[in-house]
Amino acid sequence: MAFDVIKEVDVAVIGSGPAGLTAAIYAHKSGAREVVLLEREEELGGILKQCIHNGFGLEQFKQDYTGPEYAERLIKELEKTGVQCFLNTLVTDLSSERVITALSPEHGGLEITAKSIVLAMGCRERTRPSIGIPGTRPAGIFTAGVAQRFVNIDGYLPGKKTVILGSGDIGLIMARRLTLEGARVIGVYEIMNYPGGLKRNVVQCLNDFDIPLYLSHTVTEIKGKERVEAVVISRVDSDLRPLKGSEYLVKCDTLLLSVGLIPENELSKKAGVELSADTKGPITTETMETSVPGIFTCGNVSTVFDLVDYVAQTGAAAGASATRYASGSLSPSRQSVDVVAGENVRLVFPQRYGFQDDLVLLIRAAEPVETPVTVEVTPPGSRLNRPYARPNEMLRVKIPREKLTHVKQPIRVSIREK
Ligand SMILES: Cc1cc2nc3c(=O)[nH]c(=O)nc-3n(C[C@H](O)[C@H](O)[C@H](O)COP(=O)(O)OP(=O)(O)OC[C@H]3O[C@@H](n4cnc5c(N)ncnc54)[C@H](O)[C@@H]3O)c2cc1C
Repeated sequence: MAFDVIKEVDVAVIGSGPAGLTAAIYAHKSGAREVVLLEREEELGGILKQCIHNGFGLEQFKQDYTGPEYAERLIKELEKTGVQCFLNTLVTDLSSERVITALSPEHGGLEITAKSIVLAMGCRERTRPSIGIPGTRPAGIFTAGVAQRFVNIDGYLPGKKTVILGSGDIGLIMARRLTLEGARVIGVYEIMNYPGGLKRNVVQCLNDFDIPLYLSHTVTEIKGKERVEAVVISRVDSDLRPLKGSEYLVKCDTLLLSVGLIPENELSKKAGVELSADTKGPITTETMETSVPGIFTCGNVSTVFDLVDYVAQTGAAAGASATRYASGSLSPSRQSVDVVAGENVRLVFPQRYGFQDDLVLLIRAAEPVETPVTVEVTPPGSRLNRPYARPNEMLRVKIPREKLTHVKQPIRVSIREK
């Protein structure tokens, strides 16, 4: 292939959501000479552009921003750096030698060789085929994020009478959004016996609008020829199997799916990056280094985070590490130990400790515990108390580097009732 643009840079960041924007800003702040940011959409900001609700940046900026406001703050900061942004630019290939191939209507084919690369491609939503709901295939079935884009960016209402399957944050936020736009949300149906999204979203998006949340329920069939006409709802047992005889019909014209997000790692796989079976993102050290030297990761492509603040923290770490690697001051971690999930831990991020920095762990509980818990990290034997542990709210624990210098065996993270 003949390329119209051939470039060599210090750091290339793929994706311009809060993770990529923060990574590019920190790569520049840390002294990288040439940084490029590649984004397939026509504007910077990633998913934040369509999140017009507030609740962004509470930890990081101590401000209650909407998604676009939060993005704008980062974009303004980026504009001061001289980082070159390639918009409408789809990265189609990435090699382990850090060669990026991309396509854009403005620039044609691009080949960018970078001393280090930051993966910040975010995640995508699980769809109907990925959860296999039987029934007909009528119009009116949307993922919650697509519906959000229709309403908030394109100005379309997906339907008038909606059932929402799954109580992830996007589903909860869309329940409120559709209600405010005059549609009726009949209910949110969740297969687990606890909500998938943050408690504040259950209160502010459902309870405040009298929208019922049905736990331990799922959609077992979709009915309708041209357009959705109804769904069959069933209760589920403790193994999440639909209970025979519990089915009932709910008439609706729209079904929204909020049934999980999958990190977008097609490019990571092409570069030979090792992925975690738990997070579905790259196996990462505390410096956000992947298994391929010079390739770093941050944000939702690494693991699905609850809060944009955590996304930005990983972006800052990845940007700074990418610059250190590009300048030769960060050698790939030769020595590392695994960080593994112990009792009542579904996943832990990062999954490896490379003895370069403090270890900041983000931990997702397997089962909710509503009484005080102890988060145990062994070695070094740190115990931290928390008032509760919920699968929908990551726990954050920081272990200083000095405490980890002599560690030889895997670091196990457990959550125990006090
Ligand atoms: C609906 C919704 C509501 C949320 N509400 C809140 C909230 O109230 N408070 C809060 O703190 N957090 C909230 N979050 C979480 C937070 O906004 C996200 O976790 C965060 O925006 C993820 O950032 P990211 O940069 O990792 O990914 P994204 O924002 O998804 O950005 C990824 C970018 O990469 C680009 N990209 C992907 N592949 C390629 C490629 N091959 N070539 C070029 N570009 C590519 C994409 O186009 C995209 O712009 C919400 C998330 C969602 C989805």
